[in-house]
Amino acid sequence: MSFLKKIFLMMSAALMFASCAEKQGETPQDFASDTFEFVVDRFADIEIMRYRVDNWETLSLQQKELIYYLAEAARAGRDIIFDQNCKYNLQVRDALDTIVENYDGDKNCAQWQQFMVYAKRFWFSNGMHHHYSNDKFFPECSKAYFSGLIEQTMHLDKDTRAQLVDIVYNPKIAPTRLSQDTKKDLVANSAVNFYDGVSQKEVEQFYADLKAADKNADPERPVAYGLNSKIVKQDGIVFEVSFNQLYAKQIQKIIYWLQKAVSVAENSQQKEHILKLIEFYQTGDLKTWDDYNILWAKDVASDVDYVNGFIEVYTDPLGRKATWEGLVDFKDKASSERASTISKNAQWFEDHSPIDDMFKKKEVKGVEAKAIVVAQLGGDCYPATPIGINLPNSNWIRKEHGSKSVTIENLMYAYHKAGMKNGVVPEFYYSDEEIARAEKYGYQTDKLQVDLHECLGHGSGKMLAGIDDGMLKNYHSVIEEARADLFSLYFIGDPKMVELGLLPDTDAYKACYYKYILNGKMLQTNRIELGNNITQAHMQNRALIANWCIENDYLGEVFEMVVKDKKSYIRIKDYEKLRMMFGKLLAEIQKIKSTGDYAAAKAIVEQYAVKIDQKMHKEVKTRYAALDVAPYGGFINPEFIIEKEGEKIVDIKISYPKDYVAQMLKYDHSK
Ligand code: ZN
Repeated sequence: MSFLKKIFLMMSAALMFASCAEKQGETPQDFASDTFEFVVDRFADIEIMRYRVDNWETLSLQQKELIYYLAEAARAGRDIIFDQNCKYNLQVRDALDTIVENYDGDKNCAQWQQFMVYAKRFWFSNGMHHHYSNDKFFPECSKAYFSGLIEQTMHLDKDTRAQLVDIVYNPKIAPTRLSQDTKKDLVANSAVNFYDGVSQKEVEQFYADLKAADKNADPERPVAYGLNSKIVKQDGIVFEVSFNQLYAKQIQKIIYWLQKAVSVAENSQQKEHILKLIEFYQTGDLKTWDDYNILWAKDVASDVDYVNGFIEVYTDPLGRKATWEGLVDFKDKASSERASTISKNAQWFEDHSPIDDMFKKKEVKGVEAKAIVVAQLGGDCYPATPIGINLPNSNWIRKEHGSKSVTIENLMYAYHKAGMKNGVVPEFYYSDEEIARAEKYGYQTDKLQVDLHECLGHGSGKMLAGIDDGMLKNYHSVIEEARADLFSLYFIGDPKMVELGLLPDTDAYKACYYKYILNGKMLQTNRIELGNNITQAHMQNRALIANWCIENDYLGEVFEMVVKDKKSYIRIKDYEKLRMMFGKLLAEIQKIKSTGDYAAAKAIVEQYAVKIDQKMHKEVKTRYAALDVAPYGGFINPEFIIEKEGEKIVDIKISYPKDYVAQMLKYDHSK
């Protein structure tokens, strides 16, 4: 069971190298220091961060070159995602860019600031709809002001100007990117640019006919009809226009960079799938797309990897048409080694688990998890991005040929560093001691806990004969997640962690324990409306563990609830005893699972995992509100600095620009 969830994800020849030769932002030296600034901008409900490309120096020149070419390919489709999200987006973006670059009036007034917030939000969402809610958002500056900005910077006639202002301000034009109101026509009510002049019924009929007409189709291995096309009705006829045709100009650029990548591929297998992707971009043939995905999924040996294509269908109300995205990465060897150490010792952990011997596996095998470092984000993965990848999407390919499931280390690290600065830790942590531990060990223990959960936790223990998962019914997920978390919590506090070199000392695990209890008891409730219960399985399991431990500490040896200045804090007095409590609860949860005891599952979940103490809930929400923490985050990309001797590339360095607006404008101009 994976904790990963995908969060959603053009140049002329003369300009092709211009973007990478410019040195801007910080030099690579800054990267190594502790002073690296992760958060670089904050507006509306968004925080913009930078990510570091750790271990870049360890790559060969050939690998750096490969990443650079793939990165250009990941950027080359930028206009595609804007156009896909809504047909007005490119027109509005052009206007915003022109105004930001050319307006030379008063930039200190409130209206200009409001206009800039709108522009920043627009770039962030790749268009005029919120990247997460899908609703259209509006500038806070007045219509007249906006219109004045256009007048001063663009040569548009009065009618065109009025039309543009109307597109931006009129709530009736393209109100939502993706309608979810199933009582109405989903296609007609969604602003996403996958359909033109067709009704939902016509689209559904079109694909039903197409499927029926495909006599060569293999029912076991269906191609993804409609994945890469827009569907249009003209003169009463409904037909598809391939994205490959629609976005020919951008795709030509993508192909140009992919061909360069082929020339420096790490091995023949990698070369083969990049060539297959080029073939797909040239033909738009969906069978070729499947062939490509099979080749890509099988390549687990290459260090450098990428995602590039029409991949995710979240934005289509009918779940068929894919948005364009790009991402480039390479293996994080140190982190992958950590997972491998855990897996190799899987039997030791099983043997030393605090559960009843009758529920232990005689032979246990750990799962290998892979970690990657991202070097470039593009299309639907930029600036808002996933922190894990699990592809390809085709079910039959996953079943027959496997898939790749990875965590993105450097993005997680950036989130961690930003999280340490958003004020939540000093607001809710009991004292400087806990804060210092969080700073010193927090990131390391977070990752280790996830690895223990994924590589060992879920795979540990066994069912008694005749028992299956279905017997716990609606309580299965929460019991299973609690089991994996408890396994990881129990062992992260084991001296074995230090012995295996997974933690630096026997103090480190305390950072993880404190965070876990505080989150389960208090912090996570911020995401729930006052008066509501906890319903999501992962949140329930965390509440179960935290509440069970606190409420079963009868003698008050482990916890103390402290009130300072009318604010509640949790103090953990005895971490070793808390570890024993995790062990005890693990034994109990394992027994429930192994014996399929529905009544016991129900009792423990309902008692500890569902209800929230109303007084505390209100307090948490009030304290959070005062912090103004941005609910959404995204990233700007690093830049590649090409060093040449004559025509030959001799090195590629990385710089970390800080200016979000500058990167947006630069990318928009890379046509
Ligand atoms: Zn899990």
